Amino acid sequence: LQNKLAASAAGAPGLVDQGLQWAADFPILDRPIRGRRLVYLDNGATTQKPRTVIDAESRYYLEDNANIHRGVHWLSQHATDLYEAGRERVRGLLNAARSDEIVFTRGTTEAINLVAQSWGPANLQAGDEILLTAMEHHSNIVPWQMLAARTGAVIKVVPISDSGELDMDAFHSLLGARTRLVASAHVSNALGTINPVDEIVRAAHAAGALVLLDGAQAVAHQAVDVQALGCDFYAFSGHKLYGPTGIGALYGRHELLQAMPPWQGGGDMIRTVAFEGSTYADVPQRFEAGTPNIAGVVGLDAAIAYVQHVGLDAIEAHEQELLAYGTEALSDIKGLRLIGTARHKAAILSFVVEGIHPHDLGTILDMEGVAIRAGHHCAMPLMTRYGIPGTARASLALYNRPADIDALAAAVRKAIDLFN
Ligand code: PLP
Repeated sequence: LQNKLAASAAGAPGLVDQGLQWAADFPILDRPIRGRRLVYLDNGATTQKPRTVIDAESRYYLEDNANIHRGVHWLSQHATDLYEAGRERVRGLLNAARSDEIVFTRGTTEAINLVAQSWGPANLQAGDEILLTAMEHHSNIVPWQMLAARTGAVIKVVPISDSGELDMDAFHSLLGARTRLVASAHVSNALGTINPVDEIVRAAHAAGALVLLDGAQAVAHQAVDVQALGCDFYAFSGHKLYGPTGIGALYGRHELLQAMPPWQGGGDMIRTVAFEGSTYADVPQRFEAGTPNIAGVVGLDAAIAYVQHVGLDAIEAHEQELLAYGTEALSDIKGLRLIGTARHKAAILSFVVEGIHPHDLGTILDMEGVAIRAGHHCAMPLMTRYGIPGTARASLALYNRPADIDALAAAVRKAIDLFN
């Protein structure tokens, strides 16, 4: 890494140049915070947006706005075309076989709730099991608890090791004849762990269970291929992928979606409506009741185009180098303990510092212009597993560079000095 940094400083393309070059696409990164350069390391919560995304949404409202799927007029047809082009773009991102396997949602949370509320009651009986992992985000726990309360299904949890890796022996033994669904994070938001999803899908299918993967922390950091993974459902949020808030998607295998009942009723999801009874549209419209977030889809389309232009492989390589650099930099700090040291990790650095509450740490870092996340990261059971109230979390994105890590490490040292 030192060689690469030196080569970079000498003019060869490398970490510094790449981070800088990509950062130039994100206007907000030029905005000083508290009189300092913004060091934005809260990408796991939400990423910043490139100008192309901001322009695409703005252009949509300036030139293309109309409601979709309803109008006979030109603009409505045009808006519908843009919306459906967005669906095709998401299909390409996930390498789904067909674009009608993509349902637009508000984000990961709504995508998981859709499966829990539509597929769940139609397929689960009392005593059936839903297998989760100890590192899930609340949005991949609570919808299943609500479903369990409604159906009498039982939730089981795969434990993790101290390094934050799934205990795969326990996974295999928990997987049983009553398991109907395994719902797991692809990448943990609080630890960075990249789970062995290939093995999870293979074993779950062999046991006759379906698999839902929560891809919220995966899609912006590595290429995802749902056909190669073989998963049944895959959920993600646009705003963690350099896109707008309020838009995301659920991938569902066609025959599964086709057999699922609607979960919300209203306009656009019907075929016929009569007071005696209504019939429903085909997928994916059946799951998209009401006027959707059309501008959000346009922005998401632009965001995916952006990451595809940069290249997910290049993003992954860049972030992995930064992760190695950051792991080394933080490991040098006395009293700091990294939480989540899995062998396969995305660029998330979660840590605790002896004698300093994560919130205090976050506040001091903020005074230095370093934006991180502090707290339980919507993974309270995981914090309980580690016996801590929360962590400080730096989560990286393509526009980060070694100087950001240096600023983080310097601010943490300053906080330690202040507290001692
Ligand atoms: N799952 C994981 C792993 C996440 O990190 C998040 C957001 O932090 C979510 C689900 C929920 O995403 P959203 O709030 O965009 O629906």
